[in-house]
Amino acid sequence: MTLVLTTDPPPTADLVVIGGGVLGAATAFYASRAGLRTVVVERRPVLCSLTTPVAAGGFRLQFDNREETALVRESLETFENFAEVTGLRGYDLRLQKQGYLFVTTDPPTARRQAERVALQQSWGVHDVELLKGSEARYRFPYLSEQIISARYRAGDGFVDPKRLTYGYARASNATFLVSTSATGFQLAGGRIAGVQTSRGDIATNAVVIAAGPFTGQVARLAGLDFGLSAVRRHRLVMPEVPEVPSDAPFVIDEDNGAHWRPAFQGAYLVFTDPSTPPGDPLWSVPTDPEFVFLLLDPSSEHTVARACPFWRAVWERGTDHWVLQAGQYTYSPDHRPILGPTPIPGLYLNAGYSGHGVMGSAGGSRRVVDLLLGRADPATNPFRWDRPMTAHAFDVI
Ligand SMILES: Cc1cc2nc3c(=O)[nH]c(=O)nc-3n(C[C@H](O)[C@H](O)[C@H](O)COP(=O)(O)OP(=O)(O)OC[C@H]3O[C@@H](n4cnc5c(N)ncnc54)[C@H](O)[C@@H]3O)c2cc1C
Repeated sequence: MTLVLTTDPPPTADLVVIGGGVLGAATAFYASRAGLRTVVVERRPVLCSLTTPVAAGGFRLQFDNREETALVRESLETFENFAEVTGLRGYDLRLQKQGYLFVTTDPPTARRQAERVALQQSWGVHDVELLKGSEARYRFPYLSEQIISARYRAGDGFVDPKRLTYGYARASNATFLVSTSATGFQLAGGRIAGVQTSRGDIATNAVVIAAGPFTGQVARLAGLDFGLSAVRRHRLVMPEVPEVPSDAPFVIDEDNGAHWRPAFQGAYLVFTDPSTPPGDPLWSVPTDPEFVFLLLDPSSEHTVARACPFWRAVWERGTDHWVLQAGQYTYSPDHRPILGPTPIPGLYLNAGYSGHGVMGSAGGSRRVVDLLLGRADPATNPFRWDRPMTAHAFDVI
C-alpha cells in the first residue's frame, strides 16, 4: 500500500478531511475502509508535521471518566493489532506497554488515588493497581523515599505518533492533497456542497475538520464556534541519559505535574502547566528555555528530581544534550474531544482531544466515520458538540 500525495485537487470526493495529522489520517483510514472516496487536504508538504510529531505518544486507560476510557480502549486494541487491522504486514508502531505510574507524597492525593483506582476498576479497568510507597519503590527502585502512594497500570504505554499517522495514511486509499490550504466551504440549501482550497474547489457532501489547533479557525470559516482553544505545551527531548531505565513506565508526579518517559537512550520530559494562557493557533510554536530549568533544576517546584532523585545527578553533571520542542494542545471547554456532526449538515468535527489525540485517534476517528455514515446515533454520542459542558478542573496530564 503506497501513500498517494498530490497537489492536483480532484473535482469531487465523497469526503474531504481537512488536516493531515494523526486525526486526519485516522479519519481517512476509517472512511476509506467504509468505501468513501476520501481526500485529505493538508496545508504543508508532508503529513504529520505540526502537533502530532511533538506528542509523547502516551496512551492510558487511567481516566477520570468512562467515555474517554472506552475511546482509548478501542484505540489500544487497534494499536495492539495494527498490522492486522490495517493490512500493513509487519508494520511496527514501536508499541511499548511499560505502564503509566502516577506517584504522590501527599496524603490527600493518596486518598484521591485510591478513589480514582476504585472508580476505574468499576468501569472495567480491572488491572489498574493502587501501590503503597514501599511497593512502588520495590518495583521501581529509582523512586524517591518520599513517595507514599502510586497508581499504576502495566498495560498503559506509548507508541510512535509519526509511525501511527503514516500507518493510517498508508493503509487508507485516500488521496493526500498536500501544500494546499482549505480556505472556505460551499453550501447549497444550508448543506455542505464543497470545500474551497488554495488550489481550487472540491465538490463534496461531507467534510471532517481535523485541523488540530487550527480547527476553531477553520470552523469559523463556516460561521461556527465550538469554544476550542490552543495552548502551548513543550516536550523536552534528552536523547542520551544513562540513568533513565529503558523499561521505565511514564512516571507522573501528581503533586507537581512533572512527568517523563524513556525515549531513545534517554527520555521525553513534559509538564502541563495550568497557568499557560490560551493563544492563537500557530504554524511555528516558539519554545521557552525556562521550561528546561523548570523541569530539570532540582530547586524548581516542578522538578522531575522530586519523584526520581537520579535527575539531580543529571542536572549536576550538566553534560547531557537536550532539544526543546513545542506544539499546542487543542482544548474543548470540558477537555474532552468534540466528535461528529455540527449544526451544518455534512460538516463534522474530529478535534478538541485536549492532549489525548494520539491515544484517542482510532476510537475517535472510527466513531466520527460511523456518525457520518448513519451507523451511530448522534443523540447518544457522548462527544457531540452540544453536550452539556462544565469547565474542567485541571489535571496534571
Ligand atoms: C508536547 C505535547 C505532548 C503530547 N503528548 C501526547 C501524548 O502523550 N498522548 C496523546 O495522545 N496526545 C499527546 N499530545 C496531543 C496530540 O499531539 C494531539 O492531540 C494530536 O497530535 C492532534 O492531532 P491532529 O491531527 O488533530 O493535529 P495536528 O497534528 O496539528 O494536525 C493538524 C493538521 O492540520 C493542518 N491544517 C490546519 N489548518 C489547515 C487548513 N486550513 N488547510 C489544510 N490543512 C490545515 C496542519 O498543517 C496539520 O498538519 C501531545 C501534544 C503536545 C503538544
